[in-house]
Amino acid sequence: MTICTLCAYPSAGYLCVRCSSATGNRLGDMPGLYDTLAAFLAPACRRPETGRTSRVEAPLPVSEDVLTLRGPGGMVGVLEDWRDALHSELGWTVPGQRGTIERRVADASGSLRTNMLWIADAWPQAGEFAAEIRQLHQEATAVVEPPERSRVLGPCAAWFDDGTFCGGAVRLPQDGRVARCSWCRTAYPPVTWCALVTGKWANGESPRTNNLRQGTSDRSGTDDVLDGNIYAP
Ligand SMILES: [Zn+2]
Ligand SMILES: [Zn+2]
Repeated sequence: MTICTLCAYPSAGYLCVRCSSATGNRLGDMPGLYDTLAAFLAPACRRPETGRTSRVEAPLPVSEDVLTLRGPGGMVGVLEDWRDALHSELGWTVPGQRGTIERRVADASGSLRTNMLWIADAWPQAGEFAAEIRQLHQEATAVVEPPERSRVLGPCAAWFDDGTFCGGAVRLPQDGRVARCSWCRTAYPPVTWCALVTGKWANGESPRTNNLRQGTSDRSGTDDVLDGNIYAP
């Protein structure tokens, strides 16, 4: 048994199942995040759903963060660099850069995601890779999904294939009707909230995660790590 090179929890490979799954989920989000970022390029951009910016106002500079993320060295550059490094490591042909940037983001993230199990088990660079993907995901998400007010209902009771439990923070957005685990993304409808808060699940009632290798996200020192305590909203 060694430790996960991202979260330092015990792990059989370079990444634990939670960090491996979280990284895979983040890679899966990349094409959609790239597309969504385009809506935030406009000068004086307001969140699209909040209405138009008046054209009477003087134009403001284009968002530099968004430009950087969508530029050649941004999302596509990070993903293709890691994809190329992976192919080199495995002795595979390094693919060229083909198609639109949207296409390249989808191809590179898809290729990395497909190989997540090998990356987690056997690639010494897995921790550095996963940290960079997490950083990229955080930067993009900070633009398109500013943090919403939410409260934590309790630790996630979803269980993995190996019989262990997730334990991530289950958050209920303000005015939301479905709470969701920030690690494995298991959804909790209102009927389950009482058990979530009390931790008293009827036998066989607690959900099972539905991720590839179960569990997601990582124990990265955030308040998403719960120790069985309920955090104040
Ligand atoms: Zn980990
Ligand atoms: Zn969970």
